[in-house]
Amino acid sequence: MTTCYINGNYRDILESKVSITDRGFQFSDGIYEVIAVYENRFVDIDLHLNRLIKSLNKLKIKINLKVNQIENISKKIKKLNNLNNGIIYIQITRGDQHPRDHKFQKGLKPNIIIYSIPKDFKKINSKAKRGVTTSLYPDIRWLRSDIKSISLLGNSMAANYAKEKKNHEAILYDKKNYITEGNSSSIWIIKNNKCITHPLNYRILKGCTRHKLISIVKRKKLKFVEKKFSIKALLSADEVFMTSATNFVMPIIKVDKHKISDGKPGQITLHLRDEFINQI
Ligand code: PLP
Repeated sequence: MTTCYINGNYRDILESKVSITDRGFQFSDGIYEVIAVYENRFVDIDLHLNRLIKSLNKLKIKINLKVNQIENISKKIKKLNNLNNGIIYIQITRGDQHPRDHKFQKGLKPNIIIYSIPKDFKKINSKAKRGVTTSLYPDIRWLRSDIKSISLLGNSMAANYAKEKKNHEAILYDKKNYITEGNSSSIWIIKNNKCITHPLNYRILKGCTRHKLISIVKRKKLKFVEKKFSIKALLSADEVFMTSATNFVMPIIKVDKHKISDGKPGQITLHLRDEFINQI
């Protein structure tokens, strides 16, 4: 049984229900967070809870829980579900509203759910040794990708396209053929020892793993550049990798039919992955 926190109660996830009048269900009017638990420890919980609050503020969703209460509930869920390796999933929608109306009423009571999903990080570690393959896919999402909203149809279509092609992730590109991010990751290239990733703006999510890796890159005296890069630059990079809460730093060895360099995980990428894992 998986225990889920739902609006103040702890229930079996299969018994945890919200109304069909929930604005998350009707309008995707809500946000979420994913926090990894690796070898019994939370990874960057402060960064994730900070981003959760930012997402709520951007959508003007008000909750009556403090950050430390959300942290305590997450810890309790981890304990109740005996989670040593996996993720804590937090979702907050604006709440129930009837009759349906695009305009939200004042004073709605948000629906807050928190539960956990076990994950086999050993499998992810062995994937990282081999590197993963990817598909290019147009970035058809809305233009506020900085909000970690539950409106994920564009991401889901991209991810399923990659899955059909037996690839691990879709790399999204905009109308001018610049890479934005992955379907659920930040995308990086390394060219001439420079680590390059998309600048923070409304087109990408401020990845917590991205944020942490920037400090590692700087400490390692590698050059870090935040700038847009094209599909062409991606394909001719020395190394390519993705970062996310569940993949950490994952080498990318192929984009569609095109091999990156010699088609093996890059040395700098593997080094950054080791450094990241040492820190968490
Ligand atoms: N970009 C998108 C669209 C994502 O969904 C995610 C994670 O799920 C990321 C980037 C990486 O963010 P983080 O490193 O905080 O997991």
